[in-house]
Amino acid sequence: MTPLQNLGSLPKYGMTNNNTKTISIQTDITPGMIDSHFHSLMMNEKGLNPEEFFPEYIKRGLSGGIDMGTRAGDTKERAWIHERFPQILIASGLYPSEAENPRMIDRLDLLTVDLNTFPVAALGEIGLDYHWNYATPKLQKDLFSNQIQIANHYDLPIIIHNRKADQSVSEILKANRPEFGGIMHCFSSDYSFAKMSIDDGFYISFAGNISYKGSQAIRDAAQRIPLDRLLVETDSPYLSPQKVRGQTNHPGHIGYIYQEIAALRGIDLERLITAVRDNFYSLFIV
Ligand SMILES: [Zn+2]
Repeated sequence: MTPLQNLGSLPKYGMTNNNTKTISIQTDITPGMIDSHFHSLMMNEKGLNPEEFFPEYIKRGLSGGIDMGTRAGDTKERAWIHERFPQILIASGLYPSEAENPRMIDRLDLLTVDLNTFPVAALGEIGLDYHWNYATPKLQKDLFSNQIQIANHYDLPIIIHNRKADQSVSEILKANRPEFGGIMHCFSSDYSFAKMSIDDGFYISFAGNISYKGSQAIRDAAQRIPLDRLLVETDSPYLSPQKVRGQTNHPGHIGYIYQEIAALRGIDLERLITAVRDNFYSLFIV
């Protein structure tokens, strides 16, 4: 990781959408909670102002989190978060949709520029999406494998996006072993895939869709996996938990997901908070 002092004469960075509305944010944060996956730039695009919200989350006890990248060159706009709140980490990576970009090599080069410039804690989010079928499966797989190799080169864990692609994700992970582990984010598969991922050294992160009506397989996995491999995320601004469904999601909603998982496992909220914090900091040394 590169210390921010080395940024030299880079222009002042921050959010680009200033057309945001100040709204009273409904939060459900108990001190010590972690949000292991959110997108501040996309929250900003939806009219929320993370520069205003992050101080509020921290004040209410959010003790850590990681802001995800999706495209080459998007790290600079997000680096301010980590600068002001060192407990909030940043990840950089090319989302599966970037496989549609004909200049993949250039994009990968730009990604390594970000990794050389900013204090990036993980490669993500990267992976495969066979729901939206970006580009071709081969191009998605090439992009994914290349980024695992980059993560290994930079000693970084990876954050995996897997939509309807269990089989291909497993194959890629066998062929390109991530040496520093990572997270299966927004886990949406079943217990057997969770178990296999844990055996491969991954943490399993659950998002708001765990509270949706048709998500029995996800709830089953959240109930059965070992507590020391479990993480919790909002995936903001997407996937608002059932209780606030229809609203733009933000990390202040993280508590709804913790409550759902604590109830499923029949454990105290405090025990889950402690376990998730330990898990997060075992993966990311801050
Ligand atoms: Zn995401």
